[in-house]
Amino acid sequence: MKKNILIILTGGTISMKAKGSLGVVPSSELADVLREFPQLDSVANVEVMDYLNLPSPYITPEMMLELAKLIDLKIIDYDGVVITHGTDTLEETSFLCDLVLTTRKPVVFTAAMRSGSDIGLDGPRNIIGAVRVASHHDSADKGVLVVMNDEIHTARDVVKSDTGKVDAFRSIGYGHLGSVDPDAIVYHRAALYRENVWTDRLETRIDLIKAVAGMDGKFIRCSIDSGARAIVIEAFGRGNVPQNIIPNIEQALAANVLVVISSRTYTGRVLSEYGYPGGGKHLADLGCILAGDLKGVKVRLKLMALFGKYQDPDVVKRFFLQSRN
Ligand code: ASP
Repeated sequence: MKKNILIILTGGTISMKAKGSLGVVPSSELADVLREFPQLDSVANVEVMDYLNLPSPYITPEMMLELAKLIDLKIIDYDGVVITHGTDTLEETSFLCDLVLTTRKPVVFTAAMRSGSDIGLDGPRNIIGAVRVASHHDSADKGVLVVMNDEIHTARDVVKSDTGKVDAFRSIGYGHLGSVDPDAIVYHRAALYRENVWTDRLETRIDLIKAVAGMDGKFIRCSIDSGARAIVIEAFGRGNVPQNIIPNIEQALAANVLVVISSRTYTGRVLSEYGYPGGGKHLADLGCILAGDLKGVKVRLKLMALFGKYQDPDVVKRFFLQSRN
């Protein structure tokens, strides 16, 4: 029996077209195209909700949370939900939804690297793939999924790894969860680590700072002065930073601002290993939190959800330390 799937449109290149000298810009045609899309009919009973039409660089964490609340409400009446989104912040919106959603039904994000005016456009194929995945019984209880280029990824692992190629979305270091083949949806592995932060509010005063050679502490100072509750530092390698920002890190910790260390490398965990000043062990000994293998942009969102729910930095820290780090 065909499943009932809701497609929620939020914008992005999948909803865009080239308009002469304006370049590639939002267009309003996707909803109508999907309502008349014959290939979808054979896959599922599809309804389309024209929710937003924004370039995804405009999507804020508050909008991500509103979208998650909408999904949780709407999915009661459907077997699964597909969300179309811009690729630029897809990994963030899908991850925030993964944290806060309470449903166990399939929730699948998809997008396009090529606009509706491009040759070899990937959007229609990705939407059909996403609807097929959302309709599949094996897709339940796997957390939020991302379907791009015939591959299924978890929201936690997926990254946009290329600015323009159709295979830009990768689960680097882990591999994709499954494949969208012409005859079947095939899962290859399990998503062994999942976590939820069921909150209905976010604390957005969380900053992300990338470590670079020779950096000074001005961004950390600015962050403390502007009232940040936590600062994520995308450190080098295993979680190391230049020693001249240590006084600024100590200043943040003294002001009860959590300092959370992730890595700017593509794969692997940060670790309490190097004991020299600024090394990961030294930072952990100072009271910084090591964020495991979670990438900085996702650590920031996790902190927004945790602070939104618990407010108290000690509780947030305890929750973080119990996560898979
Ligand atoms: N700039 C676009 C967006 O994220 C890129 C895309 O969707 O591929 O909205």
